[in-house]
Amino acid sequence: MLESVLDAMSLGAIVLDGQRRVVLWNRWMAQYSGIGAPAAHGRALFELLPELAGKRLEGAVDQALRDNFPAVLSQTLHKAPFPLFLHAGARAAGERMQQAIAVTPLAIGGQARHCLIQVSDVSVAVAREHLLREQALELRSQTFSDGLTGIANRRHFDVAIEKEMRRSKRAGTPLSLLMIDIDCFKAYNDHYGHQQGDDCLVKVAAALAAMLQRPLDLIARYGGEEFVVVLPEMDAAGSVTMAEAMRLCITELAIPHHNAGAARHVTVSVGVATQSPDNPVEHPAELIGAADRALYTAKRDGRDRVVMHAPE
Ligand code: GH3
Ligand code: MG
Ligand code: MG
Repeated sequence: MLESVLDAMSLGAIVLDGQRRVVLWNRWMAQYSGIGAPAAHGRALFELLPELAGKRLEGAVDQALRDNFPAVLSQTLHKAPFPLFLHAGARAAGERMQQAIAVTPLAIGGQARHCLIQVSDVSVAVAREHLLREQALELRSQTFSDGLTGIANRRHFDVAIEKEMRRSKRAGTPLSLLMIDIDCFKAYNDHYGHQQGDDCLVKVAAALAAMLQRPLDLIARYGGEEFVVVLPEMDAAGSVTMAEAMRLCITELAIPHHNAGAARHVTVSVGVATQSPDNPVEHPAELIGAADRALYTAKRDGRDRVVMHAPE
């Protein structure tokens, strides 16, 4: 009866004697290894499957036989020690079954110690885990990016500005912020429609993002047609140059806008603020406020321009 039970199990069972010879090789092992029980019986396991010699499994078997210590081979470290294949196609492709393995010492009445090796198929669990991990990554990237433009979203910006502000203070390096707002965008929507308004936002975001070269620079969509750029280690002069280059880049896109006043194409206004050891700022909100006021001045002075926040 015991033998039928062992053969009916959906689990590989191998028993080795004190000389590491196979004394039991159940039907599951035969099915997935392609080695039948008669061929396995009496053979030393590490000669039958030489690729297992010198690997973690051999150490675990020795530990069980010699020291009476059980062992579990974690699937993450040892994906597929045995050459087991779920079907002929997998065998041809060399795709092994993912395995979880437990090695247990066995005391068999009066005889030298034996050990039991249990092998289970964890392919499905591994595939599911893989999928879940990918979905988690995808969700995570969605949580931090703007659905329309694909650049960072407000949440991402909030985290980044906090971090960069702390770093800037600690290192005594400057940190600049640009607030960029599309000019007369309500009129653009009114004239060209919301769909084309969206297309315009996507183009502007992509053009601005392409201007950033340094790995820590960040552009985010701050609100409707407003973008914010974080420029670590960039002083006031550098950030005004950058802002001017960005403004020019949008002008050069030459997206027609017949209701934009003089320009007749889409333009942006930019407010710039910098925190530095000479001009320390307590909180990100202050830096954002300063850039926002500069942006307001740029709008008031006629749009399509860059204004640097002037410290009081
Ligand atoms: P100003 O030059 O002073 O910035 O004027 P403005 O018209 O750009 O500013 P206002 O804040 O009055 O209008 C912003 C417009 O941006 C209003 C809204 O319809 C549009 N907008 C905001 N978010 C989106 C969006 O996701 N898609 C589209 N198509 N339009 C948007
Ligand atoms: Mg606007
Ligand atoms: Mg706006």
